[in-house]
Amino acid sequence: MFDWLIVGAGFAGSVLAERLASQRDERVLLIDRRPHIGGNAYDRYDDAGVLMQQYGPHIFHTNSEAVFEHLSQFTRWRPYEHRVLANVDGMLVPIPINLDTVNRLYGLSLDSNQLAEWFASRAEHCDPIKTSEDVVVSTVGRELYEKFFRGYTKKQWGVEPSQLDKSVAARVPTRLNRDDRYFGDEYQFMPLHGYTRMFERMLDHPNINVMLQTDFEELRNEVFYRRLIFTGPIDEYFNFRFGNLPYRSLRFEHVTLDKRQHQPVAVVNYPQTEAYTRVTEYKHLTGQEHPKTSLTYEFPSDAGDPYYPVPRAENAEIYKRYEKLAIAQQNVWFVGRLATYRYYNMDQVVGQALATFRRINKEIPARNSAAFATASVAAE
Ligand SMILES: Cc1cc2nc3c(=O)[nH]c(=O)nc-3n(C[C@H](O)[C@H](O)[C@H](O)COP(=O)(O)OP(=O)(O)OC[C@H]3O[C@@H](n4cnc5c(N)ncnc54)[C@H](O)[C@@H]3O)c2cc1C
Repeated sequence: MFDWLIVGAGFAGSVLAERLASQRDERVLLIDRRPHIGGNAYDRYDDAGVLMQQYGPHIFHTNSEAVFEHLSQFTRWRPYEHRVLANVDGMLVPIPINLDTVNRLYGLSLDSNQLAEWFASRAEHCDPIKTSEDVVVSTVGRELYEKFFRGYTKKQWGVEPSQLDKSVAARVPTRLNRDDRYFGDEYQFMPLHGYTRMFERMLDHPNINVMLQTDFEELRNEVFYRRLIFTGPIDEYFNFRFGNLPYRSLRFEHVTLDKRQHQPVAVVNYPQTEAYTRVTEYKHLTGQEHPKTSLTYEFPSDAGDPYYPVPRAENAEIYKRYEKLAIAQQNVWFVGRLATYRYYNMDQVVGQALATFRRINKEIPARNSAAFATASVAAE
């Protein structure tokens, strides 16, 4: 008999497994249908011995000290500030758009004040700002929207930016200075020995059993457990009763090249050309010294593993119907990017898992606590 069955060994499931096992001394069965732990953050050494990420580049960044401190129990860190270049009009220029982006692209030598005026003279008035297109054209104007955002977004999401919620484009800021970091967060690091090693340490507890290549469906009536934490797609849990929640998927093409370096930064975006959206070179992220280098090309698609919940109003409506069912479930918690149908980063999922743990602690006495014994006697 397990106290908990946890479906999904990504951040959501693994953070909760560790907390329940170590803080409440409860027995956890953690399963994943994939052959590895770590969910989408899984990394591994490829055949050439280069540390790469199976599901594309994952850069840890957060403003939450609590989340950073929590994960620091399981890993040391490598300081890393992410920089991305976009291949636009045949040039490699910084994205998010900053002073250098505009000066290089247009052969100008504007300062920050002049750039503000330059943007203002091109920005289109939109009121209210509802879509991703509105966000961009009202900030930098239509020409830069076409060059940097429209093609990329269409490839990535399969729809025009005008069909997507404003939250998608709002993730990418526009800067008047020369700051070319992709993220502005206070903590920006990579786990020193990779994500998988961090997960291994997190799950290394006698109260945690891990079963891989195991689907929830195969097991749901086969093992005894008191409570369930589900971190897979919420529509799948409820047998798609209200229809499929749309997800965007990716096909990853991993290659190793017989040279030390392929591109100047970890990620180069291709908003105008190519069928892929971006190319990642992992050695920039990991700092690994190796005579060869490994890359991943990302090809967005509708079919395949669910990676990105698609943030559109009608999808939020479908999700709300599933959420209602979820709330009514007894002894089941839905946590993580797929179970709550939110476009969350890793730190947000860790924060959500820690908040869920606090809620569980409030609502349910731990198995070995005096309160649990009293509650059990009362129930008999
Ligand atoms: C290409 C890409 C790049 C990203 N880059 C970043 C980044 O740079 N920085 C960042 O902070 N975030 C990034 N993210 C987001 C990050 O991947 C997620 O926030 C995080 O992985 C979510 O963790 P999770 O545990 O909710 O879900 P997941 O990591 O998806 O884990 C869920 C697990 O549940 C398993 N599962 C599902 N259903 C079942 C079932 N029925 N039975 C058994 N197992 C099941 C799945 O196999 C999966 O392993 C990126 C995401 C993608 C797709």
